[in-house]
Amino acid sequence: MSKKAPLAHGHKARKRFGQNFLHDQHVIGKIVKAIHPKPTDCLVEIGPGMGALTEPLLEASGKLDVVELDRDLIPILRTKFFNYPNFNIHQGDALKFDFSTLLQEGQQLRIVGNLPYNISTPLIFHFLKHYAMVQDMHFMLQKEVVERLAAAPGSGDYGRLSIMAQYFCRVEPLFVVGPGAFNPPPKVESAIVRMRPYDELPFPAKDHKVLEHVVREAFSMRRKTLRNTLKRLIDSDTLESIGINTGLRPENLTLEEYVRIADKVAELQQAQTEQEQINQDDSPTGEK
Ligand code: SAM
Repeated sequence: MSKKAPLAHGHKARKRFGQNFLHDQHVIGKIVKAIHPKPTDCLVEIGPGMGALTEPLLEASGKLDVVELDRDLIPILRTKFFNYPNFNIHQGDALKFDFSTLLQEGQQLRIVGNLPYNISTPLIFHFLKHYAMVQDMHFMLQKEVVERLAAAPGSGDYGRLSIMAQYFCRVEPLFVVGPGAFNPPPKVESAIVRMRPYDELPFPAKDHKVLEHVVREAFSMRRKTLRNTLKRLIDSDTLESIGINTGLRPENLTLEEYVRIADKVAELQQAQTEQEQINQDDSPTGEK
């Protein structure tokens, strides 16, 4: 089938919006069962498309906010779900949307989405940053992205995405979905992942931003040893002094070890700031 062939309601799937619409009722049923929506939930769907998941989610929960970028889909969704008083459509880019506006007193958001591939990683990082407002997330992603999210140290898939996701969340790959479940079919396999932010982080870092920086530096050159990739942030002797084997490659370190490095870097940065403050206070007025 051509990518531009009309679907139901005359809508033509748009590649630039990553539109691959789910049509396999068995797969839709499996996803909704995994989400297990309840009437008291604050459900949010990203990219509802023509409502393949929206419909069973609304049936089960009665309350749903959706964020859809494609203006042409808005009237289709409005018509289809006009009789649900607690269905709210927000037209716009999910990457720019302020999800905190959807929060209700004492509740967290349950985020759901068959995500367009081009926004999936930035969107996941966005929710990780705001993990306290999220109860859980169920996403359909490229299978390869789910493998990266859930990867363990030592695996070729293990990297920045795995570490930051597993720092904030329990990551559970659920099942694989073949291209035939979509219209038009994508070129790659997809998978469903559940991510549930921890109430208490198992390895809390002194500063999340420093952890992100350390991990980004470490994986900037995957094939090199930590001694080399981290030298701009921390020297090899200091790394060894906190029990890190600097001859390892970045993919061989656990989350706990990355947090240990980040805390040391944060400590060194703080000591440096304090020293600079002392030097400034000691210098005569006007001199630097
Ligand atoms: N949920 C529908 C389904 O399963 O059939 C559609 C899934 S389709 C893979 C992705 C949807 O996300 C499309 O409806 C697309 O228009 C929408 N979309 C793309 N980029 C978006 C963005 N930045 N913000 C919100 N929605 C977006």
